Amino acid sequence: MPDIIAANVVVTIEYTLTNNEGEVLDSSVGDEPLTYLQGHGNIVPGLENALAGKRVGESLKVSVSPEEGYGVRDPAGVRALPRNAFPADAELAIGSQFMAELEDDEVVPLWVVELDDETIHVDMNHPLAGETLNFQVEIVELRDASAEELSHGHPHGRDGHGHHGHDDHDGHDHDAHGEHDDHHDCDHDHHKH
Ligand SMILES: [Zn+2]
Repeated sequence: MPDIIAANVVVTIEYTLTNNEGEVLDSSVGDEPLTYLQGHGNIVPGLENALAGKRVGESLKVSVSPEEGYGVRDPAGVRALPRNAFPADAELAIGSQFMAELEDDEVVPLWVVELDDETIHVDMNHPLAGETLNFQVEIVELRDASAEELSHGHPHGRDGHGHHGHDDHDGHDHDAHGEHDDHHDCDHDHHKH
């Protein structure tokens, strides 16, 4: 078992995320702790960097700037799309997340911010773009990653035996994950939270 958090270590943490107003935006408390793979962009860079070198049982407070978090807000990221640009059975509501394929085949998430009968306004900015992220974190467990986890770039559950299907794009929004964590082909089901 690894002693400290370093690249390729599977890390399990409890965390609470608040904004600068002290509002709780997300928390693992009362839910499952978060398990991620260090060094693979599973979580925002500012938090990943702050956790490097830490040990099980340590607690820390980390304030992450937008640049090291979900990015600065780009006003050009808001677009109006016709409703028929979405699948007929799409659940359209404010806050709904979709994956959109760009001209160069890059797949990016976008969020519905406003809608009426004909037009859907989507924002390519993460809902937490522009926010300073204040994390209170406790390190719960460390373990070595399996070869499979390293090749996928993410852990398969806290114990390494979880399964996943990677169809959970719309299942998580503003949590501690990075945005590049699950565009792979994996043939197992997986529990992210
Ligand atoms: Zn996988």
